[in-house]
Amino acid sequence: MSQTQAMSLDEIYQLAFDTLLSAGADEHNATILASVLVNAERDGSHSHGLFRLPAYVAGLKSKKINGSARAEVTQVTSSFIRVDGNQGLAPTAHDAAIPALAKAAQKTGVAIAAIHRCFHMAALWPEVEAIAEYGLAGIACTNYMPSVAPAGANKAFFGTNPIAFAWPRSGKTPIVYDMATAAMALGDVQVAARDGKKVPPGTGLDNEGQPTTDPSAIASGGVLLPFGGYKGSGMSMMVELLTAGLTGETFSDETKARDNADGGPPIGGQFLLAMSPEIIAIDDWQSHCDLFFERMSGLPGEGVRLPGERRHKNRRSTAARQINSELLEKIHAL
Ligand code: NDP
Repeated sequence: MSQTQAMSLDEIYQLAFDTLLSAGADEHNATILASVLVNAERDGSHSHGLFRLPAYVAGLKSKKINGSARAEVTQVTSSFIRVDGNQGLAPTAHDAAIPALAKAAQKTGVAIAAIHRCFHMAALWPEVEAIAEYGLAGIACTNYMPSVAPAGANKAFFGTNPIAFAWPRSGKTPIVYDMATAAMALGDVQVAARDGKKVPPGTGLDNEGQPTTDPSAIASGGVLLPFGGYKGSGMSMMVELLTAGLTGETFSDETKARDNADGGPPIGGQFLLAMSPEIIAIDDWQSHCDLFFERMSGLPGEGVRLPGERRHKNRRSTAARQINSELLEKIHAL
């Protein structure tokens, strides 16, 4: 079992903020990213909290990531926003894009934002939850570097290609579903390798294309598999098309060719969709959906839990969070 150290949320934020600032981010960018990282630790999204900080620092130090970026938002049509991330961090682009996206969807019923030239290495729930805060349903997806073999192949081609969905609820936390289309997110495979744990069968192949439960064999030289065979593979392909085909950014296999391999995230695109139930649904959509969630949660069996519930429960605790000691040493050494 790996050693951990207790840190308050304020301490985690300050560590992330100071580290980002000294790596070359300006205050605006460091504030936004440090908030995303501390919120991930707060919610128990450990593979997308401080764990990602060294990679962000690598990208900032190599100057691949523009630490002073300000995203440029262009309203192309009444329901379509194009966002140039200005080679900055994806959360900085979201900060600029989501208010404009929400405003458009609240007017037209549905709006999309196509983000290009940004670096995404975080969880996707922050952006869909931000959309839900406007009373809108949100969908987000992004691609990455090739790390997943499409069904029928043993070579990496797709990214881990996450999809997130949030549904707004009045007076309650939104329902949020946020998942990699890989059988396991790469960050979780890396965390399992670090902690000396096995991963479930079907997670990936080793460097000879053989199935393995050793996360190190998958993370170094091997390849991840999509969840659910050809079904997950099809969804991953859809993510590639929405984030690259539609936005004009690179597909995951093209992304690798232009990355400087500094260990930081690659530049790429993101697709955001916002829909207004207020405009689209028939009257009383909120109580209609609340009753649906009630019936779903009350079904017989081991007990249904609504996605997002685990994180939202963690969020309520103000207690210190346990952070991996090796990771902290690595961050302090940066
Ligand atoms: P998980 O498999 O841990 O969870 C996927 C979703 O299922 C979550 O919404 C989770 O809700 C929900 N869930 C889990 N268990 C249950 C259950 N028993 N009943 C009901 N719902 C459940 O996520 P992944 O490992 O696939 O992805 C982890 C993160 O990695 C995501 O946040 C994703 O955005 C991120 N990622 C980012 C990438 C990038 O390039 N930026 C690439 C790939 C992944 P809950 O949160 O409440 O547990």
